[in-house]
Amino acid sequence: MPGIKRLPQSVINKIAAGEVIERPASVVKELMENSLDAGASRIDVAVEKGGVDLIRVADNGCGIPADELELAVASHATSKIETADDLFHVRTLGFRGEALASIAEVTHLRIRSRTADSDVGAELFVEGGIIRQIVPCGCPVGTVVEVRNLFFNTPVRRKFLRSTTTELAHISETVARIALAHPQVHITLTHNDRPVLQLPGTDNLLERIAALYGRELAEGLIPVSSEDGPVRLFGYVAHPRFARRHAKMQFLFLNGRPIRDRNLQHALNEAYRGLLTVDRQPIAFLTLTMPPELVDVNVHPTKQEVRFLDGGRLYGQLLGTIRKEFLTTDLTTRLPAGAESDQQSANAPHDPQQELAIRRQIVDWAKGELDRQRAAIQAAGVSPSSHPISEAPSPRGASPANAHPTVRGEPQTESPLEPPQTTAPPLGRPSPQGRLPIDQSPPIRALQVHNRYLVTESEDGVVVIDQHALHERILYEQLRQNIAQGPLPSQQLLIPEPVDLTPVEATLALENRELLAELGLTVEPFGGSTVLVHSYPALLRTIAPGELLRAVIAALGESPRDVDRTMLLEKVLHSMACKAAVKAGEQLNPDEINALLEQSRQVLHSHHCPHGRPAMLVFTREELDRYFHRT
Ligand code: ADP
Ligand code: MG
Repeated sequence: MPGIKRLPQSVINKIAAGEVIERPASVVKELMENSLDAGASRIDVAVEKGGVDLIRVADNGCGIPADELELAVASHATSKIETADDLFHVRTLGFRGEALASIAEVTHLRIRSRTADSDVGAELFVEGGIIRQIVPCGCPVGTVVEVRNLFFNTPVRRKFLRSTTTELAHISETVARIALAHPQVHITLTHNDRPVLQLPGTDNLLERIAALYGRELAEGLIPVSSEDGPVRLFGYVAHPRFARRHAKMQFLFLNGRPIRDRNLQHALNEAYRGLLTVDRQPIAFLTLTMPPELVDVNVHPTKQEVRFLDGGRLYGQLLGTIRKEFLTTDLTTRLPAGAESDQQSANAPHDPQQELAIRRQIVDWAKGELDRQRAAIQAAGVSPSSHPISEAPSPRGASPANAHPTVRGEPQTESPLEPPQTTAPPLGRPSPQGRLPIDQSPPIRALQVHNRYLVTESEDGVVVIDQHALHERILYEQLRQNIAQGPLPSQQLLIPEPVDLTPVEATLALENRELLAELGLTVEPFGGSTVLVHSYPALLRTIAPGELLRAVIAALGESPRDVDRTMLLEKVLHSMACKAAVKAGEQLNPDEINALLEQSRQVLHSHHCPHGRPAMLVFTREELDRYFHRT
């Protein structure tokens, strides 16, 4: 082993960069945090090609004096703390003095800045950590940081970057998180000169949530707030019907800093226990404020994780606050006095009537769920249901004549635990009177058990079928066969359906219009982040266009960079099939069961779902005989 040597500064910076800068979104985060620390009331973020080619963050903050510009990009140089003791009272987002140095090391960096007491600004240009020039320049008060060619000198990192779409999605998420933590700041994001987010400053968190995720969600939010000594919790949690498959919509802010905390996330899930199925994640926007002394923010290079002095107590506060809102029976008569006194929610356009109704709904639903399950057991699988598997066109693409003219307003059976929809046939609340008279129902060729498995007889034994896995496989094979022959047959909607997306989803949808068209989904911009769906795949008409569109966009966003077309399609088809297939927990009527069995004969690989999980298990007669000691 060679002797020990001190590393050159540029290597030290590259190591630091490795920790702080993972992808374009990390740069965006650091630069926006600097703008916030500089007291900016407006931040404009512009990126090109997912941030790989360019990231520009412009703010109207205090600016950097010309004679400090060079220091700003030096490592461990900061204006935010002076002594080690300051580490325990951090009131700014940054304090490590490493971000700009790290960014400068692995990019082409240009900073233009002017302070209010100076007539001219100064411009600094750094290339791979080497300062090229500092010159005076004319510019408004504030700072513009331009970062080009990310990772140009660290090819390994560059190779790990994902597709433009994916990187843009990360950037938008980052901007959204910061925007939620600082609603009063005017924030914009553009991608390739196209506006993605436009968020005027507001005192009202709910306004900002609406601007980012749509009015519908914002209006379904339930305010929560509490105080425990100097610790204040304030925010909103969503009605369980908004729950998602992922936890990305769980926001936690500590003193203006977006953080992640497993412990508190667990508390949130606990609060929703019994209100959601296992595959659902609650939505929450929660802000914590506490004196900086009660928390150590210096435990993580990007400061996304922090350490609380009394994590256990905080867990209790969060769980208790939300649970109280959800589960006390008298919450139907009590308005959120605490929340109303809060300045932020006092400005909110709350309709107490509506709020009351939402609360009542949750309680009723939680109570009704029990009855529903009991009734379902009694009805034992012979009640009618609305899932038109039996009407699904054949793999050859039957005439769409009998298809729904529009899917608008069709009940979304996304989660079997969702509150029963009044428009739906009594799928969720079977009652003895609701049964089909036995002599009218076709002979059932399989028995549905636990609303998720079908048990049927085969020539040589007994087959147990996972209804979701099998239907998913059938749809997937049908989609694949069809797309091999050209664009998927699509079904024109009589009335185009406006679908509210998040701004990011809308951008992704519009940037991938051609691919969507091949999948039978035609979309058009419709102002803001709403897109208009004109047609959708005829094979998948059991699912609402909006839901399908979101699933496809999610699949696109997760795909790696430069993935080949066939693989991309595969992935998208998988997610379409999964989304449209009957779910575990859905009760099927005899027609539907028979149609499913019938179709399983017509497709390849019906024994496994497209993800490779088994869809069918066979117990041969010999095996059964053996188990029962008949041989
Ligand atoms: P830190 O934020 O941890 O102090 P950075 O490397 O991010 O370290 O920034 C170094 C210094 O540059 C900051 O302490 C601040 O004084 C100055 N600075 C960076 N960005 C801005 C900005 N947008 N406006 C004003 N000052 C800035
Ligand atoms: Mg910083």
